[in-house]
Amino acid sequence: MTILIPEEYPKKLIDKNGKRLDGRALDELRPFSCKIGVLANADGSAYVEHGKNKIYAGVYGPREVHPRHLARPDRGIIRVDYRMTTFSVHERKSPAPNRREREISKIIEDALAPTLFLELYPNSAIEVYVQVIAADGGTRCASTTAASLALADAGLPLKSLVAAVAAGKADGEIILDLGDLEDKAGTADVPAAVRMIDEEFTLLQFDGEMTPEEFEKSIKLIKKGAREIFAKQTAAIKEKFDTVRKETEEENKKIEKLVPPEEKITHASGTKEEEKAGEEKSDKAEEIKEEKEDPSDTKEEEKKPKKEKEEKKSEENK
Ligand code: ADP
Repeated sequence: MTILIPEEYPKKLIDKNGKRLDGRALDELRPFSCKIGVLANADGSAYVEHGKNKIYAGVYGPREVHPRHLARPDRGIIRVDYRMTTFSVHERKSPAPNRREREISKIIEDALAPTLFLELYPNSAIEVYVQVIAADGGTRCASTTAASLALADAGLPLKSLVAAVAAGKADGEIILDLGDLEDKAGTADVPAAVRMIDEEFTLLQFDGEMTPEEFEKSIKLIKKGAREIFAKQTAAIKEKFDTVRKETEEENKKIEKLVPPEEKITHASGTKEEEKAGEEKSDKAEEIKEEKEDPSDTKEEEKKPKKEKEEKKSEENK
């Protein structure tokens, strides 16, 4: 078990080559990956790995609000429940919800609400459940990113996806996407969520000290990181629907193989005699059809021998 106390933080978070403790450049994101449709029982779901953070988000609704007094007659509400599992951090976390979890639930609600058409769902709630399986700093941002994907997976109309990431300051440098140690030992932390359609910030928190220029630089870095996350979010959505399309095509091919051609289907339900009778009928029908289709030719053929006979007779008579 590793318990970090301030005296044990490394003296330097950035080396003389401008590299961070995990070898990243100052403006580099941690490894990021995401997937949607990961939980069979939720209306929408997503899984995000951001650095060593591992986070699931599941969405239900829109559905009836409980307790009823929270319902609004003119619009829907979004409710987020962010929780860290007991085993998500070095020290065992108490399973009881704490103030930090309630605060983060609230800020994720506020970060996502501007992307929803809540006016479409009076008296209803969209519920988002977030479970942090492993925490590594920046869980509020990674959870917001995951929750936005889960809303998209639920098929809810959205104005935009939200991508979230923090910038901060360590050893006098502005850095993107703080890891757990940089979060705790750094001098500033600016977690933010960006509505990608217009790059408006739907969450902006600030903890620490920065000059206005450093803050401006942080905002630029956050937008850069958010764009990279957004590219992976859209790729995850496309991947799911490509998979669904391929599966549907394969299913259709299987069904085509199982089902016989059209005429076989019409005979399939009858007895063998009925099948034969059917075939004979259809043969006769074919003959009649041919005759009907080409009446001029057949009449000419019939006429020919008659004419020839008459000519022969008249010659004989002569
Ligand atoms: P965020 O996860 O959004 O950065 P905080 O700044 O509050 O939120 O937390 C920073 C990190 O501290 C978390 O990502 C997690 O790794 C760790 N942490 C948070 N709460 C606890 C806790 N109760 N016990 C141990 N570690 C915690």
